[in-house]
Order: sequence, then structure tokens, then C-alpha cells
Amino acid sequence: MKELSLQIDRLQALENDAWAAVEHQFAGRLYAYVARRIPDQQAREDVLQEIFLGAVRGIGGFDQVYTLEQYLFGICRNRTIDHLRRRRDTTVSSSPEGVDETDPLDQMAIERSNPGSIVGERDLRTRTRSLLVQVLRDWVQETWSQGEFKRLMVVEALFLGGWRNRDTWERMGLSGERAVAGIKFRALARMRALAGQGDADRGLLEVLSEEEGAVGGAEVLLVSDEWAASHASCPARHWLARHLNGSLDEGPKSFVEFHLSKMECPWCLANLDDLEQERVAPQALIERVQASTMNYLRSRTLPQEPS
Ligand SMILES: [Zn+2]
Repeated sequence: MKELSLQIDRLQALENDAWAAVEHQFAGRLYAYVARRIPDQQAREDVLQEIFLGAVRGIGGFDQVYTLEQYLFGICRNRTIDHLRRRRDTTVSSSPEGVDETDPLDQMAIERSNPGSIVGERDLRTRTRSLLVQVLRDWVQETWSQGEFKRLMVVEALFLGGWRNRDTWERMGLSGERAVAGIKFRALARMRALAGQGDADRGLLEVLSEEEGAVGGAEVLLVSDEWAASHASCPARHWLARHLNGSLDEGPKSFVEFHLSKMECPWCLANLDDLEQERVAPQALIERVQASTMNYLRSRTLPQEPS
């Protein structure tokens, strides 16, 4: 965490080296995300450039409850949506090459909100939300380290996937709806305990208790939103690498496969593409994107001409 805030300080100071390092580290996975949704090569490049320019412009408001990757993916999603909207607006008539059966915009509508959009909505960033993110992460980490992957999958399906109890028990091979309700009940109880260990926040405890047996409502959405925005259950990149080379043990393997194939997590799929070098950004493209960011940084840091 210390390391991250140090890095953020340097990025906020618009240091060239710090930004070049970030682009080097993240261009591949961001490009992979864009490439899954935008077929045109030139447009992909433009969008990648816009993402980093957007990141530079927005870094002053970076919220440290998230990671840098979540911040960048949030902007990445927004810029991709912007591009797809513009393209849809300019091509009102049918596409020349037959039917493109899935509109990427429809696909993205089901992807949940993200730090990029939340950054722009400052009033939503309450202390309660920040604490909630921490509790969700702690709970996932604890459940993972206990080897309770089935429990992790069920709770992820409910909060991140928005599955209903009655769908979940069948798809997860549980004994019935009550088994699902029981898992959810115990998970929320544990989250409340985790929330109470630090400085307990009344709002947070309410959110986590009203979840119980709730049919819907604002609280459920809040937990689901923050689960998605904080990528609470996304396995770290090294787990994805081990998934690719087939070296995962049964438990983590089942969870990672569930997360990728059933949750269809867009961020992890982009990371996976990047690791597989499938939709990898050409080196020349990365260099052009870096040049464009550097240009912008230079324009921001040069002393203004006296008028
Ligand atoms: Zn993920």
C-alpha cells in the first residue's frame, strides 16, 4: 500500500518516468480489453491513447481504495463505451458485412460499474463505501486462504453475478435454496465481524445486515457495485498465469475457471489475453501511445510563455 501511494505521488507530479513505467506495465492488458470489443486497428490505437491521456488528467482525483489497475480499467471501459457509441451513431444503417450478432455495447451494459465512473461521482465515495471495499477484500482473502472455494463461488455468484438463490443451488450443485441462503447468511455475519474489528462504521453494519434475506433494494446494489468496482474476487495476475500453465491445485483451479467462464470477468479475461499474448499490443503501437502521453505531459509541465 505504501509502495502504491509512493507511485501515485510520482504520477500526480506528472513524472515522465513514472508514467512510462505504468504504460509499459498496463498497455498490454488494456489493449487486450479494447481489442475484444473494437475490431478496427486504428480505432484501438486511438482508444488506448485516450485511456492514458484520461488517466493523466484524472490522476489528481485518484482514490486509493482502488488499485492502479482498477483505476485504469475503469477509464478503459468508459473510453471503449464512448467509442462504440460514436461508431453506432455514425453507422445507423446495417453493417455491410452481414450481421454482427452481438452488439459489444449490449455486452458492456451488463458489466458493472467501475472506479472510472465512480471517480466522476464524488458524492458516492463515502467512507462507508471505502470500508465496504476493505471488508469484501478481507472476506475473499480469508475464504481463499481457508480453501473454501465453493463458498467463494456461491457468494461471488450472488453478489457479482447477481444470481438468484434458486438458480444458484442448481448450478452449483448444492442441496437446495436453503443451502444457498445459509452460505450467504454466514458470509454476511463474517463480513460484519470483519467490519467490527477495525473502527466499526454504523452505516456499513447496516448495509451488511439488511442484506440478509433481502429481496432487492439499495443495500444489495451497494454491495454488488462495490464488489464489481473493487474487483474484490479477481485472482491476482500470477494466479491467472498459473491457470494458463496448468499448475493450479484443484480448489483455486475450480474458482479461477468459474470466475472466467461463469462470471466472464472482463478484467481477468483481458489479463489472460495479455498473458497469452493473444491480442497483444504491437510494440510500435505502445511506443506511439507513449509518445503521445509524453507530449501531453510536456505541455503540462513546461513553464507558460509570459503573455
Ligand atoms: Zn476478475
